[in-house]
Amino acid sequence: MRVLIIGSGIGGPVAATALRRAGIDATVFEAHDGPGTNLGAHLGLAPNGLAVLRSLDLLRPVLEAPGTLPSSRIEFRDGRGRIMGRLSDGSTELEPELRSVSARRGVLQTVLAETAADLGTTVEYGRRLVRHTDTGSEVIAEFADGSVERGDVLVGADGIHSVVRRSLFPDAPAPTYTGLLDLGGRTPNAGAPPTPEDTSRLIWGRRAFAGYQTAPDGDAYWFVNVPHPELTREEIAARPDSEWKRFALDLAIDRTGDLDTVLRASEPRLFRPRGVYTIPTLPHWHRGRVALLGDAAHALPNSSGQGASMAMEDALVLAMCLRDSDTPERGLAAYERIRRGRVEAIIEEGTRRGDLKLVTHPVGVFLRDRLLLPLVFRRAAGAGGHSPVFDHRVDFDAPVAT
Ligand SMILES: Cc1cc2nc3c(=O)[nH]c(=O)nc-3n(C[C@H](O)[C@H](O)[C@H](O)COP(=O)(O)OP(=O)(O)OC[C@H]3O[C@@H](n4cnc5c(N)ncnc54)[C@H](O)[C@@H]3O)c2cc1C
Repeated sequence: MRVLIIGSGIGGPVAATALRRAGIDATVFEAHDGPGTNLGAHLGLAPNGLAVLRSLDLLRPVLEAPGTLPSSRIEFRDGRGRIMGRLSDGSTELEPELRSVSARRGVLQTVLAETAADLGTTVEYGRRLVRHTDTGSEVIAEFADGSVERGDVLVGADGIHSVVRRSLFPDAPAPTYTGLLDLGGRTPNAGAPPTPEDTSRLIWGRRAFAGYQTAPDGDAYWFVNVPHPELTREEIAARPDSEWKRFALDLAIDRTGDLDTVLRASEPRLFRPRGVYTIPTLPHWHRGRVALLGDAAHALPNSSGQGASMAMEDALVLAMCLRDSDTPERGLAAYERIRRGRVEAIIEEGTRRGDLKLVTHPVGVFLRDRLLLPLVFRRAAGAGGHSPVFDHRVDFDAPVAT
């Protein structure tokens, strides 16, 4: 069996590795010209996602990659520096190597792609899919450079703006803007007071939500999410980066000045924002010989911190289902059946909490910071940080009932 995987973000290379382990031939096609090493933003990886990496021998390279930081605790503050709550992922009870970390997105993608390649899969860069056809007996993928590939199964791991999803379900609604712009990255020698060990600091400012963590070498990893009307790429590019930096500083997110120290030390290019998008629940994640995984299939609420881990879990289960099924169609149906309930429960939980990052009215901010969030943090801390989300494990060697 030959599987064509579109996208070498997070889910794509993990799927390729898992398929290879299952004895199935897989090739990844990525639109970008090379590994995304320059993608500076950081990504939180939860214990359940790390467990997927461990089952495929991908964990060590990720933990040892430059910029990976232990990050199993979160300290929440309001804009005046008052501590609103602290959360831990319960990692004192977890095996040490499964404690949450934060990793540089670009480095993570590169490490995953390189390890997949070492295991005998191929990642082909500069291959942008434009459309696909499922003939019933094979899939045909057509690329922007005019080239064509044929395989038995096609997997869309091509993210929130998935071309595979559009081609598979032309009536599916387009991604919708969440109302937030996101910006941030890594600032060497930021000069900010160090964050407590193993802890990222998240700040609910009056006009924006932000977070940062300092590494032992003094580098700071940071982001800002700001409510804003939707902007096109052209509109964002029309404003110089220095103006975007001014814009971020003017939000006066952290009145203690600690975040400002990081922002002031940061290169202007890190302030160029991008819109955060989501997709409504799809009626199906697969049809015939084609399936979606990760953000192409489902978009988790922005603050769930589970997007990458869900893409990795999807990838593992999809490989197991193709391994244990007599036909690709049955395998993909089993994959969707196994994964849908878990993913949708996490989406529902996040949506119920609502997106508090969009609140900017002073009364709303007061209620959020004084009543709602402290209650949420107390409840979560009472649960010891352990949750069915973090504790979930997929046993790759166990046979799947397809
Ligand atoms: C601001 C922000 C912060 C986030 N923070 C976290 C976090 O802390 N923790 C977490 O778990 N999740 C987080 N997420 C979510 C997480 O980034 C995604 O869930 C995750 O990247 C999904 O992985 P994926 O492999 O499905 O897609 P992606 O990582 O988006 O990868 C898709 C790949 O497909 C490629 N591609 C696209 N179109 C084509 C095409 N036509 N042909 C070929 N290749 C194509 C892209 O270039 C890309 O490399 C965050 C998301 C945002 C927006």
